[in-house]
Amino acid sequence: MTHTPTPVSAAPWLDVLQPELYTPIRVKWAGDRCAVCDSDLDYETDQLVSCDACGITVHQTCYGIPEAPGMDDLWLCRACELKEPGRPEPQCCMCPVAGGALKPTTLPGLWCHAVCMQWIPEVICLDTTRWDFSLFSLLSHFP
Ligand SMILES: [Zn+2]
Ligand SMILES: [Zn+2]
Ligand SMILES: [Zn+2]
Repeated sequence: MTHTPTPVSAAPWLDVLQPELYTPIRVKWAGDRCAVCDSDLDYETDQLVSCDACGITVHQTCYGIPEAPGMDDLWLCRACELKEPGRPEPQCCMCPVAGGALKPTTLPGLWCHAVCMQWIPEVICLDTTRWDFSLFSLLSHFP
């Protein structure tokens, strides 16, 4: 019996652009605690903010929201803000978990969880205020 090893792609994070290679894991996100640090503490200077479209809840500093939205203001996470009809749901290119506190990256069409960005040292954040445009220095390891 021969064992055929699963082929390893040269750039696994690009697999998210090919849904047939990839099975996203669906989890239930709690609306009452931060999707990044999992704390439900709401601080005066670092408030919990919920997306009015998908319901994801994050701290201002965990997701990079310089100004807390007012009580009556609409706030959308970046995934909902940049959503376009007909486009597939954004998927983190670092893990298989669907949804969550996602951020766009410097690579068009690729998204990353704010929490994945914190835990994976090769993923760097270039703009620490808004936390967008993380640069994948990982890419430089591959020709
Ligand atoms: Zn948090
Ligand atoms: Zn949202
Ligand atoms: Zn992720």
